[in-house]
Amino acid sequence: MIEILSPAEVDRARQTGALVASILQTMKSRSTVGTNLLDIDQWTKEMILDAGAESCYVDYEPSFGRGPFGHYICTAVNDAVLHGLPSDYTLADGDLLTLDLAVLLDGVAADSAISFIVGESRPAESVALIDATERALAAGIAAAGPGARIGDLSHAIGTVLSEAGYPINTEFGGHGIGSTMHQDPHISNTGRPGRGYQLRPGLLLCLEPWVMADTAKLVTDDDGWTLRSITGCRTAHSEHTIAITDSGAEILTVVS
Ligand code: MG
Ligand code: MG
Repeated sequence: MIEILSPAEVDRARQTGALVASILQTMKSRSTVGTNLLDIDQWTKEMILDAGAESCYVDYEPSFGRGPFGHYICTAVNDAVLHGLPSDYTLADGDLLTLDLAVLLDGVAADSAISFIVGESRPAESVALIDATERALAAGIAAAGPGARIGDLSHAIGTVLSEAGYPINTEFGGHGIGSTMHQDPHISNTGRPGRGYQLRPGLLLCLEPWVMADTAKLVTDDDGWTLRSITGCRTAHSEHTIAITDSGAEILTVVS
């Protein structure tokens, strides 16, 4: 199903997006050396409930996970990249942490992910991975607007990731969003321009380039959720929710 939101609904989506961004920035600032992932999950729960919002994750039970997820935020460390189930792990200097969060507020969902390095060290490979996903996300957003097609966004994202030298996995990518977190259309992180669904004002999309340094193959942890690189290499993931407007695309998951 593809939802087209009314201007009033897009306005509500701005509030949801700002909340998601605010929680992610707060959790990033608290993700210091010695912080436990379960504390990040608890703090996220408190911020979601304090805002009168609902978690999109806690009861989520999709075919690709061993549901329900049971936590409020995804925490993926180093070689873990997607659907990271918070665990009793304490962050160390140089860890590459990805936080992914989706919440529902006033009937509209928003979804965003950030990757960053914990502590003071800046391993070159991690810096490059994060930079590639952030640039790919920016390229995908720049390609979005009324009349553009999904393939244009996929192509823009995939071109940046390929030129950065990373293999691209096509099992998981971006998606539509609205009254629920995951909707059509699927947005692959590589594709051909001019193909696919044509964007129109009121459509909300999540673009989410993610990469692994030297492989496109994932393995699932024993927890049934956390996906990590099969080689143990580092990974990164960047995601925003955007709204297609009359003139282009507006990023919703930014602090207002
Ligand atoms: Mg997400
Ligand atoms: Mg998403």
